[in-house]
Amino acid sequence: MWSTQVPSLAVDLGGTFLRCGTSTDAGDITAIEVTKIPNFLDGSRSADIWESIVTSIEAYARRSDMLRPTDPVALAFPGPVIGGRTTISAPTITGDEPMPDLVAILESRMQRPVVVLNDLSAAAWYFSERVNDDRFMVVTVSSGIGAKAFVRTPSSRVFDDVPYAGEIGHCVVDLSPTAPVCDCGASGHLGAIASGRGAERLARRSAETERDLFAASDCVRRYGATSATLDNERHIVPAIRDGDEWAMSVMRRSMEPLARVLSAVVYTLGLERIIVIGGFALSVGDRYVETLRGLMCLRSTGSPFSVGDDEFIVLGDAHPHAALVGAAAYARRLLPA
Ligand SMILES: [Zn+2]
Repeated sequence: MWSTQVPSLAVDLGGTFLRCGTSTDAGDITAIEVTKIPNFLDGSRSADIWESIVTSIEAYARRSDMLRPTDPVALAFPGPVIGGRTTISAPTITGDEPMPDLVAILESRMQRPVVVLNDLSAAAWYFSERVNDDRFMVVTVSSGIGAKAFVRTPSSRVFDDVPYAGEIGHCVVDLSPTAPVCDCGASGHLGAIASGRGAERLARRSAETERDLFAASDCVRRYGATSATLDNERHIVPAIRDGDEWAMSVMRRSMEPLARVLSAVVYTLGLERIIVIGGFALSVGDRYVETLRGLMCLRSTGSPFSVGDDEFIVLGDAHPHAALVGAAAYARRLLPA
């Protein structure tokens, strides 16, 4: 098959080694050279480390007899990258030091186009030429943990073309023998624990095991529940809306596994917003999303990977005809006029 691949100077920048190679028209890599680079852990200064890296890449290009002067540099980088150009930080190389504009430096010194991508993204591109799946994820477990999702054909917009897409309610979050049983028949599923029904079930169990706290709660004192009659509509949701401590604690406990699952999805897909709908969440209202924000800790202080702002998780509007409007929008896309 005729190939349109551009030969390039491929670079893999790791925490300890710099690998340079030349990609051929067929996509193979030849003339691989590995150089040890200085690191902040040896006491090297950030400016010296970057100078050493840039010099090594330049030297490789000069020595190469295969690269033409205009062939690009493709750099796999061990840190977050935006838009194929902007490197944010390289904690394994220079710790928490601010980093220079590496792409601009390489371009001006080498007079070649430079593209940079995260090294795990590069791994995803590698596997994309070796598996046929439309969507897959590469997970790395080494000195750290990371993942990149690959979407080959992002045409359907809503990810719903495999039957399990989005069915997070059926992922197992409780392996214990006493885990609640899901409506689907399996046990320990998220939906059996964190749904409105899951919260209600947990509240009934807790009402038996935490008799004093239950008795002191608004569910009993204000809304007249007993452990036998306790339900969402009449007791639990109104008590949560009042800020009742026991009812809030039951809801928070039932939501913990949901928060962990959602956090994983946020980081995997690089989500920019979560819109929460559904009868239970909407009837609890703001306290529901506030609790979810608290449990997900997406803005944990001190981490460069904290996510979003207070509007990252929001309640969706309770439009009674949302599904009708949405179905019509889908039909407009599928059957253009
Ligand atoms: Zn299930």
